[in-house]
Amino acid sequence: MARREAPAAGPGSRALIVDVIRSAVAISRGELVDLTGLTQPSISNIVRELIADGIIHEIGSLDSAHGRPRKLIAINPASRFGIGFHLGPETVTCVAVDLTGGVVGREAVPRLPGDDGRADRLADRFEHFTAGLDLPRERIEGLAVVAPGTLPSGLRPELSARIGVPVLLENDAAAAALGEFWSRRVSREQAFGCLYLGTGIGAGLVFGGALFRGAGFGAGEFGHMSIDHRGRSCPCGNRGCVQQYASTGATVQAARKIPELRSRLPLDGGESHAYEAIARAAVNGDAAAYAVLDQAATCLAVAATSVVNLLDLGRLVLTGPGVALAGSIFARRLRAQLDGAAYSRHRHSVSVEISAQPRDAAGIGAAVLVVQAAVAPGHTPGRTS
Ligand SMILES: [Zn+2]
Repeated sequence: MARREAPAAGPGSRALIVDVIRSAVAISRGELVDLTGLTQPSISNIVRELIADGIIHEIGSLDSAHGRPRKLIAINPASRFGIGFHLGPETVTCVAVDLTGGVVGREAVPRLPGDDGRADRLADRFEHFTAGLDLPRERIEGLAVVAPGTLPSGLRPELSARIGVPVLLENDAAAAALGEFWSRRVSREQAFGCLYLGTGIGAGLVFGGALFRGAGFGAGEFGHMSIDHRGRSCPCGNRGCVQQYASTGATVQAARKIPELRSRLPLDGGESHAYEAIARAAVNGDAAAYAVLDQAATCLAVAATSVVNLLDLGRLVLTGPGVALAGSIFARRLRAQLDGAAYSRHRHSVSVEISAQPRDAAGIGAAVLVVQAAVAPGHTPGRTS
Protein backbone atom coordinates (compact mmCIF):
# COMPACT_ATOMS: atom_id res chain seq x y z
CA MET A 1 0.00 0.00 0.00
CA ALA A 2 2.71 2.43 0.98
CA ARG A 3 4.42 1.90 -2.37
CA ARG A 4 1.27 2.69 -4.31
CA GLU A 5 0.74 5.89 -2.33
CA ALA A 6 4.32 7.07 -2.74
CA PRO A 7 4.68 10.29 -4.75
CA ALA A 8 5.68 9.94 -8.38
CA ALA A 9 9.20 11.05 -9.26
CA GLY A 10 8.97 14.56 -10.70
CA PRO A 11 11.37 17.28 -11.79
CA GLY A 12 12.13 18.09 -8.14
CA SER A 13 12.97 14.50 -7.19
CA ARG A 14 16.58 14.70 -8.32
CA ALA A 15 17.15 17.89 -6.32
CA LEU A 16 15.44 16.31 -3.32
CA ILE A 17 17.67 13.22 -3.48
CA VAL A 18 20.85 15.29 -3.85
CA ASP A 19 19.78 17.38 -0.88
CA VAL A 20 19.05 14.37 1.31
CA ILE A 21 22.40 12.74 0.42
CA ARG A 22 24.22 16.05 1.08
CA SER A 23 22.73 16.45 4.55
CA ALA A 24 23.15 12.77 5.46
CA VAL A 25 26.86 12.58 4.48
CA ALA A 26 26.52 8.87 3.55
CA ILE A 27 23.29 6.99 3.01
CA SER A 28 21.91 3.77 1.50
CA ARG A 29 19.27 3.53 -1.23
CA GLY A 30 16.85 2.00 1.27
CA GLU A 31 17.25 4.96 3.61
CA LEU A 32 16.62 7.29 0.67
CA VAL A 33 13.29 5.52 0.07
CA ASP A 34 12.36 6.01 3.73
CA LEU A 35 13.43 9.65 3.88
CA THR A 36 12.03 10.89 0.56
CA GLY A 37 8.85 8.81 0.21
CA LEU A 38 9.80 8.06 -3.41
CA THR A 39 9.52 4.51 -4.72
CA GLN A 40 12.44 2.08 -4.88
CA PRO A 41 12.49 2.11 -8.73
CA SER A 42 12.48 5.94 -8.79
CA ILE A 43 15.35 6.08 -6.31
CA SER A 44 17.31 3.46 -8.27
CA ASN A 45 16.88 5.33 -11.56
CA ILE A 46 17.84 8.73 -10.18
CA VAL A 47 20.78 7.35 -8.19
CA ARG A 48 22.04 5.61 -11.34
CA GLU A 49 21.85 8.91 -13.27
CA LEU A 50 23.61 10.81 -10.49
CA ILE A 51 26.42 8.24 -10.38
CA ALA A 52 26.75 8.39 -14.18
CA ASP A 53 26.98 12.20 -13.95
CA GLY A 54 29.67 11.88 -11.27
CA ILE A 55 27.66 13.89 -8.73
CA ILE A 56 27.52 11.02 -6.23
CA HIS A 57 29.60 7.90 -5.77
CA GLU A 58 29.53 4.66 -3.82
CA ILE A 59 31.82 4.79 -0.81
CA GLY A 60 31.60 1.30 0.67
CA SER A 61 28.96 -0.78 2.34
CA LEU A 62 27.45 -1.54 5.70
CA ASP A 63 26.49 -4.99 6.91
CA SER A 64 22.75 -5.41 6.87
CA ALA A 65 20.60 -7.38 9.30
CA HIS A 66 18.95 -9.00 6.27
CA GLY A 67 22.13 -10.50 4.85
CA ARG A 68 22.95 -8.37 1.80
CA PRO A 69 25.32 -5.50 2.63
CA ARG A 70 23.87 -2.04 2.01
CA LYS A 71 25.94 0.07 -0.35
CA LEU A 72 26.46 3.61 0.86
CA ILE A 73 26.41 6.59 -1.45
CA ALA A 74 27.73 10.09 -0.88
CA ILE A 75 28.31 13.37 -2.69
CA ASN A 76 31.44 13.20 -4.85
CA PRO A 77 33.13 16.47 -3.76
CA ALA A 78 35.57 16.90 -6.64
CA SER A 79 33.07 16.32 -9.45
CA ARG A 80 31.93 19.96 -9.70
CA PHE A 81 33.23 23.31 -8.48
CA GLY A 82 31.67 26.73 -8.06
CA ILE A 83 33.32 30.15 -8.01
CA GLY A 84 31.98 33.03 -5.91
CA PHE A 85 32.98 36.70 -5.78
CA HIS A 86 31.88 38.86 -2.88
CA LEU A 87 32.11 42.58 -3.60
CA GLY A 88 32.62 43.87 -0.07
CA PRO A 89 33.03 47.52 0.94
CA GLU A 90 36.83 47.37 0.74
CA THR A 91 37.79 44.02 -0.78
CA VAL A 92 36.70 41.53 -3.39
CA THR A 93 36.81 38.03 -1.90
CA CYS A 94 37.13 35.24 -4.48
CA VAL A 95 36.29 31.70 -3.36
CA ALA A 96 36.17 28.29 -5.02
CA VAL A 97 34.21 25.45 -3.40
CA ASP A 98 33.71 21.80 -4.16
CA LEU A 99 30.33 20.10 -4.26
CA THR A 100 30.08 19.82 -0.47
CA GLY A 101 30.85 23.52 0.03
CA GLY A 102 34.44 22.83 1.06
CA VAL A 103 36.74 25.75 0.21
CA VAL A 104 39.40 24.75 -2.34
CA GLY A 105 40.67 28.21 -3.24
CA ARG A 106 40.45 31.73 -1.84
CA GLU A 107 41.97 35.14 -2.38
CA ALA A 108 41.02 38.63 -1.26
CA VAL A 109 42.09 41.68 -3.24
CA PRO A 110 41.47 45.39 -2.68
CA ARG A 111 38.32 46.57 -4.39
CA LEU A 112 38.94 49.09 -7.15
CA PRO A 113 36.44 51.80 -8.07
CA GLY A 114 34.08 50.42 -10.71
CA ASP A 115 34.59 46.74 -9.79
CA ASP A 116 30.88 46.26 -9.18
CA GLY A 117 29.56 47.26 -12.56
CA ARG A 118 32.38 46.33 -14.90
CA ALA A 119 31.96 42.96 -16.58
CA ASP A 120 35.42 43.26 -18.15
CA ARG A 121 37.11 43.70 -14.75
CA LEU A 122 35.17 40.82 -13.21
CA ALA A 123 35.97 38.62 -16.21
CA ASP A 124 39.69 39.42 -15.84
CA ARG A 125 39.49 38.60 -12.16
CA PHE A 126 37.73 35.31 -12.91
CA GLU A 127 40.42 34.31 -15.41
CA HIS A 128 43.20 35.28 -13.01
CA PHE A 129 41.65 33.47 -10.03
CA THR A 130 40.73 30.26 -11.86
CA ALA A 131 44.16 30.13 -13.56
CA GLY A 132 45.70 29.93 -10.10
CA LEU A 133 43.51 27.00 -9.04
CA ASP A 134 44.51 23.44 -9.76
CA LEU A 135 41.01 22.55 -10.99
CA PRO A 136 39.89 21.07 -14.31
CA ARG A 137 38.26 23.95 -16.16
CA GLU A 138 35.39 21.80 -17.43
CA ARG A 139 34.32 21.07 -13.87
CA ILE A 140 33.85 24.76 -13.01
CA GLU A 141 30.10 25.19 -13.20
CA GLY A 142 29.89 28.95 -13.09
CA LEU A 143 30.42 32.18 -11.19
CA ALA A 144 28.14 33.95 -8.73
CA VAL A 145 28.75 37.60 -7.88
CA VAL A 146 27.23 38.82 -4.63
CA ALA A 147 27.10 42.27 -3.06
CA PRO A 148 25.00 44.26 -0.63
CA GLY A 149 22.00 45.61 -2.50
CA THR A 150 21.45 45.32 -6.23
CA LEU A 151 24.06 44.77 -8.93
CA PRO A 152 23.65 46.56 -12.27
CA SER A 153 21.24 45.09 -14.78
CA GLY A 154 22.94 43.61 -17.79
CA LEU A 155 25.96 42.41 -15.82
CA ARG A 156 24.80 38.80 -15.86
CA PRO A 157 24.57 38.19 -19.64
CA GLU A 158 27.63 40.30 -20.45
CA LEU A 159 29.82 38.60 -17.86
CA SER A 160 28.57 35.15 -18.83
CA ALA A 161 29.38 35.85 -22.49
CA ARG A 162 32.90 36.91 -21.55
CA ILE A 163 33.80 33.96 -19.31
CA GLY A 164 31.79 31.23 -21.04
CA VAL A 165 30.05 29.81 -17.95
CA PRO A 166 26.72 30.65 -16.29
CA VAL A 167 26.66 33.70 -14.02
CA LEU A 168 24.37 34.29 -11.05
CA LEU A 169 23.85 37.52 -9.10
CA GLU A 170 22.62 37.56 -5.53
CA ASN A 171 22.44 39.59 -2.36
CA ASP A 172 25.44 38.84 -0.12
CA ALA A 173 23.49 38.00 3.05
CA ALA A 174 21.22 35.60 1.16
CA ALA A 175 24.24 33.91 -0.39
CA ALA A 176 25.94 33.60 3.00
CA ALA A 177 22.84 31.86 4.36
CA LEU A 178 22.84 29.32 1.55
CA GLY A 179 26.56 28.72 2.08
CA GLU A 180 26.05 28.02 5.77
CA PHE A 181 23.03 25.81 5.00
CA TRP A 182 24.94 23.76 2.44
CA SER A 183 28.30 23.37 4.15
CA ARG A 184 26.80 22.69 7.59
CA ARG A 185 24.74 19.91 6.00
CA VAL A 186 21.52 21.39 7.37
CA SER A 187 18.57 19.23 6.35
CA ARG A 188 15.88 20.79 4.17
CA GLU A 189 13.24 20.18 6.85
CA GLN A 190 14.83 22.83 9.05
CA ALA A 191 13.61 26.43 8.98
CA PHE A 192 17.05 27.99 8.72
CA GLY A 193 18.11 31.61 9.02
CA CYS A 194 21.35 33.50 8.89
CA LEU A 195 22.13 37.06 9.99
CA TYR A 196 24.97 38.82 8.18
CA LEU A 197 26.47 41.62 10.26
CA GLY A 198 28.51 44.16 8.37
CA THR A 199 28.13 47.80 7.40
CA GLY A 200 24.46 46.86 7.05
CA ILE A 201 22.65 43.86 8.50
CA GLY A 202 21.08 41.37 6.12
CA ALA A 203 19.29 38.11 6.65
CA GLY A 204 19.10 35.00 4.51
CA LEU A 205 16.34 32.44 4.95
CA VAL A 206 16.38 28.88 3.62
CA PHE A 207 13.10 26.98 3.58
CA GLY A 208 12.75 23.52 2.04
CA GLY A 209 16.33 23.72 0.79
CA ALA A 210 15.71 26.92 -1.19
CA LEU A 211 16.55 30.53 -0.49
CA PHE A 212 13.46 32.59 0.21
CA ARG A 213 13.67 35.60 -2.10
CA GLY A 214 10.34 37.40 -1.80
CA ALA A 215 8.37 39.11 -4.57
CA GLY A 216 11.31 40.95 -6.12
CA PHE A 217 14.48 39.27 -4.81
CA GLY A 218 14.46 41.72 -1.93
CA ALA A 219 13.75 39.44 1.04
CA GLY A 220 16.03 39.63 4.04
CA GLU A 221 16.35 43.37 4.74
CA PHE A 222 16.70 42.56 8.42
CA GLY A 223 18.59 45.80 9.10
CA HIS A 224 15.46 47.81 8.29
CA MET A 225 13.26 46.09 10.84
CA SER A 226 12.25 48.75 13.33
CA ILE A 227 12.79 48.18 17.03
CA ASP A 228 11.47 51.65 18.01
CA HIS A 229 8.87 53.56 16.03
CA ARG A 230 10.12 56.82 17.55
CA GLY A 231 13.79 55.88 17.23
CA ARG A 232 16.62 57.11 15.05
CA SER A 233 15.62 58.03 11.51
CA CYS A 234 16.96 55.81 8.74
CA PRO A 235 17.64 56.68 5.07
CA CYS A 236 15.07 54.02 4.12
CA GLY A 237 12.30 56.30 5.44
CA ASN A 238 11.52 54.36 8.61
CA ARG A 239 12.49 55.08 12.19
CA GLY A 240 14.28 52.85 14.67
CA CYS A 241 15.74 50.47 12.08
CA VAL A 242 17.95 47.95 13.89
CA GLN A 243 20.97 48.71 11.74
CA GLN A 244 20.98 52.26 13.12
CA TYR A 245 21.88 50.59 16.45
CA ALA A 246 23.67 47.33 15.69
CA SER A 247 25.61 47.61 12.41
CA THR A 248 29.39 47.89 12.56
CA GLY A 249 29.09 51.57 11.63
CA ALA A 250 26.58 52.26 14.42
CA THR A 251 28.91 50.60 16.92
CA VAL A 252 31.88 52.69 15.77
CA GLN A 253 29.81 55.87 16.05
CA ALA A 254 28.68 54.92 19.55
CA ALA A 255 32.27 54.23 20.64
CA ARG A 256 33.56 57.52 19.21
CA LYS A 257 31.16 59.37 21.50
CA ILE A 258 32.80 57.85 24.59
CA PRO A 259 35.91 59.94 25.48
CA GLU A 260 37.73 57.15 27.34
CA LEU A 261 37.37 54.81 24.35
CA ARG A 262 38.36 57.50 21.87
CA SER A 263 41.54 58.20 23.79
CA ARG A 264 42.39 54.52 24.26
CA LEU A 265 41.52 52.95 20.92
CA PRO A 266 42.44 53.87 17.32
CA LEU A 267 38.94 54.92 16.26
CA ASP A 268 39.73 57.73 13.83
CA GLY A 269 40.77 55.63 10.83
CA GLY A 270 38.55 53.60 8.53
CA GLU A 271 35.36 52.16 9.92
CA SER A 272 36.37 48.51 9.61
CA HIS A 273 39.67 49.10 11.43
CA ALA A 274 37.92 51.07 14.17
CA TYR A 275 35.35 48.29 14.59
CA GLU A 276 38.08 45.67 14.85
CA ALA A 277 39.80 47.70 17.55
CA ILE A 278 36.56 47.87 19.57
CA ALA A 279 35.85 44.15 19.13
CA ARG A 280 39.39 43.15 20.04
CA ALA A 281 39.34 45.35 23.15
CA ALA A 282 35.94 43.96 24.18
CA VAL A 283 37.02 40.32 24.01
CA ASN A 284 40.24 41.21 25.85
CA GLY A 285 38.33 42.54 28.85
CA ASP A 286 37.85 46.27 28.13
CA ALA A 287 34.58 46.95 29.98
CA ALA A 288 33.65 50.11 28.04
CA ALA A 289 34.25 48.47 24.66
CA TYR A 290 32.28 45.43 25.80
CA ALA A 291 29.37 47.63 26.86
CA VAL A 292 29.19 49.29 23.43
CA LEU A 293 29.10 45.93 21.64
CA ASP A 294 26.70 44.44 24.17
CA GLN A 295 24.29 47.31 23.50
CA ALA A 296 24.46 46.56 19.76
CA ALA A 297 23.98 42.86 20.50
CA THR A 298 20.90 43.59 22.62
CA CYS A 299 19.27 45.56 19.79
CA LEU A 300 20.12 42.82 17.30
CA ALA A 301 18.69 40.17 19.62
CA VAL A 302 15.36 42.00 19.96
CA ALA A 303 14.92 42.22 16.18
CA ALA A 304 16.13 38.64 15.65
CA THR A 305 13.57 37.36 18.14
CA SER A 306 10.81 38.97 16.05
CA VAL A 307 12.12 37.14 12.98
CA VAL A 308 12.26 33.85 14.90
CA ASN A 309 8.70 34.40 16.11
CA LEU A 310 7.37 35.30 12.67
CA LEU A 311 8.96 32.34 10.90
CA ASP A 312 9.34 29.79 13.74
CA LEU A 313 13.01 29.31 12.91
CA GLY A 314 14.82 26.34 14.39
CA ARG A 315 18.38 27.33 13.65
CA LEU A 316 20.11 30.67 13.27
CA VAL A 317 23.72 31.36 12.28
CA LEU A 318 25.50 34.66 12.89
CA THR A 319 28.03 35.60 10.25
CA GLY A 320 29.75 38.49 8.49
CA PRO A 321 32.75 40.63 9.48
CA GLY A 322 30.83 42.10 12.42
CA VAL A 323 30.98 38.78 14.28
CA ALA A 324 34.50 37.77 13.22
CA LEU A 325 36.13 38.80 16.50
CA ALA A 326 33.27 39.34 18.93
CA GLY A 327 30.66 36.85 17.75
CA SER A 328 30.36 35.39 21.23
CA ILE A 329 28.99 38.70 22.57
CA PHE A 330 26.21 38.67 19.97
CA ALA A 331 25.49 34.95 20.36
CA ARG A 332 25.26 35.22 24.16
CA ARG A 333 22.75 38.09 24.01
CA LEU A 334 20.70 36.39 21.33
CA ARG A 335 20.53 33.08 23.19
CA ALA A 336 19.45 34.85 26.39
CA GLN A 337 16.78 36.83 24.53
CA LEU A 338 15.43 33.73 22.79
CA ASP A 339 15.46 31.72 26.03
CA GLY A 340 13.33 34.37 27.71
CA ALA A 341 11.14 35.68 24.91
CA ALA A 342 10.96 33.39 21.86
CA TYR A 343 7.34 32.36 21.46
CA SER A 344 8.37 28.81 20.56
CA ARG A 345 10.62 28.33 23.62
CA HIS A 346 8.27 25.87 25.33
CA ARG A 347 7.95 23.74 22.18
CA HIS A 348 11.47 23.63 20.74
CA SER A 349 14.84 25.21 21.16
CA VAL A 350 16.35 27.62 18.65
CA SER A 351 19.98 26.87 17.95
CA VAL A 352 22.26 29.93 17.67
CA GLU A 353 25.64 29.32 16.05
CA ILE A 354 28.55 31.47 14.88
CA SER A 355 29.93 31.00 11.41
CA ALA A 356 33.30 29.25 11.18
CA GLN A 357 34.40 31.68 8.45
CA PRO A 358 32.46 34.89 9.04
CA ARG A 359 34.66 37.14 6.88
CA ASP A 360 34.44 34.81 3.86
CA ALA A 361 30.86 33.61 4.36
CA ALA A 362 29.35 35.67 1.53
CA GLY A 363 32.03 34.57 -0.95
CA ILE A 364 31.64 30.94 0.09
CA GLY A 365 27.87 31.29 -0.19
CA ALA A 366 28.22 32.74 -3.68
CA ALA A 367 30.26 29.73 -4.78
CA VAL A 368 27.73 27.38 -3.16
CA LEU A 369 24.93 29.07 -5.15
CA VAL A 370 26.72 27.85 -8.26
CA VAL A 371 27.05 24.24 -7.13
CA GLN A 372 23.47 24.12 -5.87
CA ALA A 373 22.24 25.43 -9.23
CA ALA A 374 24.35 22.78 -10.98
CA VAL A 375 23.30 19.71 -9.00
CA ALA A 376 19.99 20.62 -7.36
CA PRO A 377 18.41 22.89 -10.00
CA GLY A 378 15.13 24.61 -9.42
CA HIS A 379 16.29 26.40 -6.29
CA THR A 380 18.43 29.10 -7.81
CA PRO A 381 16.85 31.30 -10.45
CA GLY A 382 19.37 34.06 -9.76
CA ARG A 383 18.63 37.72 -10.20
CA THR A 384 18.41 39.12 -13.68
CA SER A 385 18.47 42.79 -12.84
ZN1 LIG B 1 15.81 51.60 7.58
